[in-house]
Amino acid sequence: MQSYWERETLRHFDLIVVGGGIVGHSTALFYAESHPNARIAILERGLFPEGASTKNAGFACFGSIAELEHDLESLGAQRTVELVLKRFSGLQLLRQTLGDQAIDYHEVGGYELCFEAPDLERINFFNDLLEPALGARPYSVVQNNGFGFSDSVHSMIKNALEGTIDTGKMMAALQRKVAQLGVQTFTQSAVATIEDGPHGKLVCVETTSGPVELLTPQVALCTNAFSKDFLPEVDVQPGRGMVLVTKPNPAFDWEGSFHYHDGYHYFRTVDGRLLLGGGRQLDLEGESTTEAGINDRIKAQLLEDIQSFIAPGVPFEVDLCWSGTMAFGTDKNPVVQRVDDRTVAGIRLGGMGVAIGMGVGKELAGLLA
Ligand SMILES: Cc1cc2nc3c(=O)[nH]c(=O)nc-3n(C[C@H](O)[C@H](O)[C@H](O)COP(=O)(O)OP(=O)(O)OC[C@H]3O[C@@H](n4cnc5c(N)ncnc54)[C@H](O)[C@@H]3O)c2cc1C
Repeated sequence: MQSYWERETLRHFDLIVVGGGIVGHSTALFYAESHPNARIAILERGLFPEGASTKNAGFACFGSIAELEHDLESLGAQRTVELVLKRFSGLQLLRQTLGDQAIDYHEVGGYELCFEAPDLERINFFNDLLEPALGARPYSVVQNNGFGFSDSVHSMIKNALEGTIDTGKMMAALQRKVAQLGVQTFTQSAVATIEDGPHGKLVCVETTSGPVELLTPQVALCTNAFSKDFLPEVDVQPGRGMVLVTKPNPAFDWEGSFHYHDGYHYFRTVDGRLLLGGGRQLDLEGESTTEAGINDRIKAQLLEDIQSFIAPGVPFEVDLCWSGTMAFGTDKNPVVQRVDDRTVAGIRLGGMGVAIGMGVGKELAGLLA
């Protein structure tokens, strides 16, 4: 039952952002900065964001050579460089906006494990390709020593410009920043429908006390993998990913962010623990779901990888295992577009949303009135 004040004032917003991940928060942040008097709401259906933004591995990355090989094939050279630059400048934006200390950013390097001798010509090719855009030659070969990997790891290709963040601290800093700007965040508020009303959009929210209709002249959809209900025609497919963290062990005292099998598998350390994830390609069909859950086959492979070459002979215990949901399409670029005269969407962030999420939010805020 609504009061007069709720009906006349509190349910009215100048902007409603649906989805409280990195893109939703960033959209609200940049819109609030350029419209200081606007009443802005973020509606998130989970207590914490339920997609990817608090489930990810915290790699601040923009692409290994193996990944860029695929991009080059599908996008061509110019669009590959543009994509890398979008990720690279997105990371700079994230770091500048929130601060390295607040997000616990460490430029520890990104390492691609090579199980045979790397192709030096390809490394030179990609350094040449990216140097004009990045002002640096990011890739070099380093020997396999100091990390405790088995000898099946021949060597590694290091990307000197990549690093790691603390995902939890990053989201907390983002939440703090939008709150300081007066943005209201409503959690456990799932949006059921968005319809046209006489003066704008009617956003129907499922709450613990029943449905509530909010009114706004404009909506920003930041629902990533969960966008089909609102945008059935957009090319966006869910892709689940899993991550596990071991209990602390003195063997996990090295720093760096590592990946193998074309970037599908990745690992790093955090607080003296090993964090390992990925493996979606082992069951692409099974992992094309928005349901949370652990795929036993993928988990078993990740555990075997630890024993066989990541930390052979190191006894370890898994402390925590979780899943999150990403969004993919035939094109690796995100969808940032106007949907109708009162709705915009910033979705389909793929597997490098830490890098591009804030930039997508900024672009989306620019599309709003
Ligand atoms: C396991 C895993 C590991 C990853 N590792 C990395 C990494 O190391 N580096 C990297 O760059 N990227 C990584 N990513 C990808 C990155 O996390 C995502 O690209 C990014 O977080 C997407 O942000 P988003 O805001 O677009 O989407 P999300 O974070 O998914 O946010 C969308 C939000 O919308 C909410 N929502 C959906 N429907 C509704 C509704 N009807 N009403 C209200 N709310 C709704 C959801 O609950 C969700 O919180 C990883 C992802 C996963 C899953």
